[in-house]
Amino acid sequence: MKKIVIVGGGTAGWMSALIMARQWNARGFQIELLESPEIGIIGVGEGSTPALKVFFDSLEITEAEWMPECNATYKCGISFENWSTRAGYERYFHPFSSALDRQTLPIFMHNVQARLQGADLPAHPDRFFVASRIARECLSPVAPENFPFEVHYGYHFDAVLLGQFLRKKALERGVVHRVCHIAQVQQDDAGNIASLLTDTGEIHAADFFVDCTGFASLLLQKTLQTSFVSYSNNLLNDAAVAMPSAIGKKIPSETVSAALKHGWAWKIPLTNRYGNGYVYSSVFCSADEAEHELRERLGLLDADIPVRHLKMKIGRAQEHWVKNCLAVGLSQGFIEPLEATALFLVQQTVAVFAEDFTRGEFTDRYRHDFNKRINSHFDGVRDYIVTHYKTSSRTDTDYWRANTANQQDVSATMLELYSSWFAGKDLAAEIQRLNIAHYYPVPSWYCILAGMGILPNAQQVRKPTADEARFDLPALDNFLRRCALNFSDHRAQLNNMAEQEIN
Ligand SMILES: Cc1cc2nc3c(=O)[nH]c(=O)nc-3n(C[C@H](O)[C@H](O)[C@H](O)COP(=O)(O)OP(=O)(O)OC[C@H]3O[C@@H](n4cnc5c(N)ncnc54)[C@H](O)[C@@H]3O)c2cc1C
Repeated sequence: MKKIVIVGGGTAGWMSALIMARQWNARGFQIELLESPEIGIIGVGEGSTPALKVFFDSLEITEAEWMPECNATYKCGISFENWSTRAGYERYFHPFSSALDRQTLPIFMHNVQARLQGADLPAHPDRFFVASRIARECLSPVAPENFPFEVHYGYHFDAVLLGQFLRKKALERGVVHRVCHIAQVQQDDAGNIASLLTDTGEIHAADFFVDCTGFASLLLQKTLQTSFVSYSNNLLNDAAVAMPSAIGKKIPSETVSAALKHGWAWKIPLTNRYGNGYVYSSVFCSADEAEHELRERLGLLDADIPVRHLKMKIGRAQEHWVKNCLAVGLSQGFIEPLEATALFLVQQTVAVFAEDFTRGEFTDRYRHDFNKRINSHFDGVRDYIVTHYKTSSRTDTDYWRANTANQQDVSATMLELYSSWFAGKDLAAEIQRLNIAHYYPVPSWYCILAGMGILPNAQQVRKPTADEARFDLPALDNFLRRCALNFSDHRAQLNNMAEQEIN
């Protein structure tokens, strides 16, 4: 192994280049990234999970270095609005975890389990997590030095600026960048990729190729003919429209995901604007209707603001590593962006590949294990996203009625999980038994099922027993209120960071 060629200069391409350079630069590998001058990047992914912090930390790139350059903000989690019509559950927050959850999560889980047994106890997740309070109050989740409890967080960022930042860093770390359009992929007799031919007749040969060509999937799906496993049977959305809007002084530290007539809309705060988008099903609504609904929601019906219309292919490749080619990013698959997991899957794919490829002494010895593992990551994330639709109580449009009626392809694991919930079983134990906690942890499952209000309603509950009501909830409210006092204003904190970097 001497040379790896990555095709594609979107976020997936540059993240792959940086991870591989860190892993193998010292072994003398040459890493080259080719990017078409004709095909732009998708440029809309603006939200992350806490995994992005792990990525930057592993590259020893500080927040002060990258965040101001990418107009980035902190993200404590996602607020889901109007997904449920159940009284009191029209909105809930899905938090990233915090060290403080050790104090409050057991109370939340206890109350949920008691409520499932019919006890009249509060079980809405928002009351139990410091992250939801921090987000609601537009605070930064970065804990001050004298507050010894970390709050985990993700980020929001300008996708185009992030791409430029990653490119700069990759070039500094020895990655070679060439702008050229690949017109043809040439294979050897064994079917391996031998070289790439550009439209100007240059030939790029390598030992290993990474396909980061976005939805085109030029190497993996078009050339190596890897089949595609569609998720469209239970994830109906296949299109999106995106547009910016102005942001005020306060910067929320949360993404808002609001269910609309034919899908849902994201609202992502950056330091200089909001990024907005409507993810919808083109079967139920035209691109013009979607744009109209989004503009109406934002109060921008007549504003001269350009929008971007996008098509999405939802599902994953049957295999991600085939012969001497690995696909990363949209070329390997995409699950609709409801939980902003795409970059996490990019990171996961490259990190696991680097581990397995090195372990197999740069042969394909662990290719089968790798593909199995990445497929279960994709399917695990899909199941959590599907749960949003399975638990929604909206029936106001054909789109929502189709979602409610649709029972196709819900995985056996999910059916077991849902029935355990309805039977009031210990959900944490069930999650462990079903071995799904490494895709979404126990608190996430409690949050979604309780947050959507899948609980006995006010008419179905009884007075709790003394044991069921053993936790002092006003004391919990006071505890979280006082914890939140330690965190500073989000915008002020970001401004400070930017100023310190300049000085
Ligand atoms: C509506 C929407 C919302 C999203 N929201 C989020 C989110 O909140 N969070 C998140 O993590 N992700 C999100 N994503 C996904 C995220 O945008 C992508 O996963 C991420 O940007 C990586 O894209 P990519 O690099 O795989 O592909 P692209 O950005 O499409 O890049 C493809 C690259 O391949 C190159 N290329 C293509 N063909 C050729 C050729 N023949 N020769 C040479 N080069 C070629 C292009 O020039 C380009 O550089 C969202 C996606 C969509 C559609």
